[in-house]
Amino acid sequence: MLKILRIKTTGKVEAKDITDEVQKAIKGVEARLLNIYTPHTTCGLVINEDADPDVMKDIIEGLERLAPKNYPYKHREGNADAHIKSTITGCSLLIPVSEGRLMLGQWQGIFLMEFDGPRERKVYLTFI
Ligand code: ZN
Repeated sequence: MLKILRIKTTGKVEAKDITDEVQKAIKGVEARLLNIYTPHTTCGLVINEDADPDVMKDIIEGLERLAPKNYPYKHREGNADAHIKSTITGCSLLIPVSEGRLMLGQWQGIFLMEFDGPRERKVYLTFI
């Protein structure tokens, strides 16, 4: 079973917390695992702390240090840094589900990482 979320991002670079949307989408669904997948090349999916927003700011800044925007990349579209950051963060997650709840830790949230926005991004939820 597949559900598709359409997530609008508002910034060029943004960590968008999608935990509530994902939790709503799995309500009433019988599954033990949830695969979350995004079919794009300049965004990513991560699980990390959603309590202190500075954590995601530090992660975005850390990725910027690894793949700075201003570097003489070969890719002519001008968004090579976004492709690299997307590769580092990855395009899918696998999360255990129990009794209709995501088995996330107390401080964990699910983030769509936008690296070349704003855009509308698709997120596929596959229940296993
Ligand atoms: Zn590109």
